[in-house]
Amino acid sequence: MLFHRLQQCALAFRGRTVDLISENHLRKNRSRMKAEGAGLAVVNGNAENVGGQQVTGELNTMKLQAQCRCQRVGQGGLADAGNILDQQMSPRQQAGHCQPDLTFLAKNDVADLLDDLRDLRIHGGHCSVEWASDAEALVRHRQYDTLICTQFIQVVQNHVSTAYITHPDCLRHDIGGDHPESPARLTAIEQKIQATGMNARLVYFEAPLVSIEQLARVHDADYLVTIERSAPQSGIRMLDPDTAMNPYTLAAARRAAGAAVFATDLVIQGKAQNAFCAVRPPGHHAMRGRAMGFCVFNNVAVAAAHALEQYGLQRVAVADFDVHHGNGTEDIFQHDERVLMASVFQHPFYPGSGIEGRSERMVNIPLAAGSGSIQFRAAVEQYWLPAFERFQPEMLFISAGFDAHGDDDIAQLHLREDDYFWVTQQLKGVADRYAKSRIVAVLEGGYDLPALGRSVVTHLDALA
Ligand SMILES: [Zn+2]
Repeated sequence: MLFHRLQQCALAFRGRTVDLISENHLRKNRSRMKAEGAGLAVVNGNAENVGGQQVTGELNTMKLQAQCRCQRVGQGGLADAGNILDQQMSPRQQAGHCQPDLTFLAKNDVADLLDDLRDLRIHGGHCSVEWASDAEALVRHRQYDTLICTQFIQVVQNHVSTAYITHPDCLRHDIGGDHPESPARLTAIEQKIQATGMNARLVYFEAPLVSIEQLARVHDADYLVTIERSAPQSGIRMLDPDTAMNPYTLAAARRAAGAAVFATDLVIQGKAQNAFCAVRPPGHHAMRGRAMGFCVFNNVAVAAAHALEQYGLQRVAVADFDVHHGNGTEDIFQHDERVLMASVFQHPFYPGSGIEGRSERMVNIPLAAGSGSIQFRAAVEQYWLPAFERFQPEMLFISAGFDAHGDDDIAQLHLREDDYFWVTQQLKGVADRYAKSRIVAVLEGGYDLPALGRSVVTHLDALA
């Protein structure tokens, strides 16, 4: 568990010291890990303030708050733990049909247990006993935290309800203290998940890096080269008035899109029923050949294209309830008959799109500033749900932005947490009817930190 491992760290908030202990030390002490206590290290890197930059577009509708909204947890470093367990392929292959495919797990405590289980199975040399039986025997003899044991058994049995996918690289993308799209967003989400006990209902995974081939399904080759070349060695480089890169942004963006692809693999392969990707930078404004609106790669589009191309699905739907229209997703899929996009967004508002491109497959529903639950739910019931019924998607993707919340001052819609619970339930109903319950949700916006934390937990509550 990424975050459980971090609980071993003596974290201190801004202005104090941070003591991140080594991975080896953590391994030695992993048996003492406890589930309680949230801790999420924000690796602040050497991001510099964008002070003096003219910030327009998505930002110009909100008054940037001078005070840091973040709980920055100082300076630190985490080893890249994204290596996929993929050793001893031959013995595993030799083990035959009774051996579950465990290669998809990133390195974490559950993965450590799976390593041990694999060793036990391989050296034991017998395939007649169920893996789950050995798994239960294994955890009985270990002193892992109960939650880790439970999740271990769930993974072995392929009974994961909701996978939660993130990566510490997503915390390193930081383009300045006042920018609302800050690392503190992920911190706020994680802290709320821990505080509410939601973590007991999730299985955590670390996101792999997306491949160039996966990105190239939805982005122009020239654009991918441009982004790679734009990555600064130090400082901040602006891609547009709202969107910038620091030295860690490229890795974060690759993890964000990689999380969405990985989530799609987990869900389609039946290893998890659904998945939520807690990642940044967000994605739904990223067009085929242009970064904008805080977005670099269009994570949800990369995932939807992966479902279509890798698994041969014929129809997928993207539901987008971020307060801003997902112009990038529309740009990418407007001519693709296999994709339905359903969105609700404030209009007129950034980025100004969503009206001209409306069609049977582009179900864009604009809401006037000041609209709230009643208008939002009516739009979903009158337009989204009939469109889903006609289209019958085989898989559902959610651009899960929470900036339409009434407490979020980046926009002027007034949704509440129960609206996010409700719409997630509606989408789950669609997925249950047509898509074998397959849902991949990817974080987009949401900038009021307390409201973001509450809203994501509510969304997860409906998913899990
Ligand atoms: Zn947004």
